[in-house]
Amino acid sequence: MAFEGLADRLQNTIQRIKGKGKVTEQDVKEMTREVRLALLEADVNFKVVKQFINKIKERAVGQEIMESLTPGQQVIKVVKEELTNLMGGEQSKIAVADRPPTVIMMVGLQGAGKTTTTGKLANLLRKKQNRNPLLVAADIYRPAAINQLQTLGKQLNMPVFSLGTEVSPVEIANQAIEQAKAEHHDYVIIDTAGRLHVDSDLMEELTQIKENVKPDEIFLVVDAMTGQDAVNVAESFNEQLDITGVVLTKLDGDTRGGAALSIKAVTDTPIKFAGMGEKLTDLEAFHPERMASRILGMGDVLSLIEKAQENVDEKRAKELEEKMRSASFTFDDFLEQMGQVRNMGPLEDLLGMLPGANKMKGMKNLQIDEKQLSHVEAIIQSMTKKERVDPSIINASRKKRIAQGSGRNVAEVNRLLKQFNEMKKMMKQMTNMQKGKKGKGFKF
Ligand code: GDP
Repeated sequence: MAFEGLADRLQNTIQRIKGKGKVTEQDVKEMTREVRLALLEADVNFKVVKQFINKIKERAVGQEIMESLTPGQQVIKVVKEELTNLMGGEQSKIAVADRPPTVIMMVGLQGAGKTTTTGKLANLLRKKQNRNPLLVAADIYRPAAINQLQTLGKQLNMPVFSLGTEVSPVEIANQAIEQAKAEHHDYVIIDTAGRLHVDSDLMEELTQIKENVKPDEIFLVVDAMTGQDAVNVAESFNEQLDITGVVLTKLDGDTRGGAALSIKAVTDTPIKFAGMGEKLTDLEAFHPERMASRILGMGDVLSLIEKAQENVDEKRAKELEEKMRSASFTFDDFLEQMGQVRNMGPLEDLLGMLPGANKMKGMKNLQIDEKQLSHVEAIIQSMTKKERVDPSIINASRKKRIAQGSGRNVAEVNRLLKQFNEMKKMMKQMTNMQKGKKGKGFKF
């Protein structure tokens, strides 16, 4: 999970001050010292840390805290607000051109995730805003880059504009925009060339594209795992190109969080999106407040609800609930429900969004759980259709066959059958209780 170390340290610090009925200057001093260390350890730019700590100190020893009835809580509120401000305050949205198409230029160093993000962004625009983007392959130096974008286009079932490697990127971009107009695409996303390091030839080419096509957005894609290097890259690109937003990729693998916390303050450019994995669906709008909340262990219930809404078919969920109530819930339904939860992402990430989840994660049980889910799935998949609907027919020889088919042992099959039976029994009891109380009491 992103921000792991920082989250742990900040939460410990905050826990100590939370319940205090009186916060002294000494308390604030100790807390800010620990916050400072935590941020430095998370690889946050030292100037940014200094400014951040000064702001907290200023606010924490002021009236806002001293006169509050719950000063401990108030300090936490200040820290959360300042963390949110540090990451840009409000969520920053994509510009929309007065006259379509809106043109987005994707820039960044090689390997940062530019091409992948081009595909992810197009997918997000279509899924969330019902847009119809045209992808443009303008990296003429690496034929593989063109192929990569075309492959993504196929996966997404979206057109990719390419003129091969013999035409200049400016010409490609211009022609792509003409085609987008003719074919009524409302967004054009241009995947430009990357280099291993910032160099003047690259900047010159990007500047030319920018001056010719006058993009509505220039998104710099940077790899969060490179920490302060990502911040330096952002600074250089911003100086030369005046970028309008940053996409921070590989945040899923960034346990420190230094880039996420420094980029806005150093470049004055907001982070607009965060890449959270390799799949085309793994791009999220960057919400500073929700991120601050996650770092401080207050959870991010809003994102969790959004994920559920995106991945769970509401009508089907209602039907399953009805089946549970009437105790006609089968192993097939069980499998389906598990699939819906899994679609939402790794369990560990989901739990990370719950308030106080960090404490639970300390138990480090989650990876085992994830594995157990796969075992349960394998066992159910080895049952016949009949067995899934009526598990009572599963006798000793069937158990043996299921165990063999799923690569598990009979004891595990027994355990699952027992749990499933108990679950059904419990559902029945709850439904009866509910009936008895005329709709009051337990609700699923
Ligand atoms: P480009 O050279 O900047 O176009 O980079 P690519 O789009 O080819 O991406 C480089 C590698 O990073 C690929 O293996 C991607 O799958 C991977 N990648 C991109 N974004 C993410 C992300 O958000 N999380 C993870 N874990 N991997 C990513």
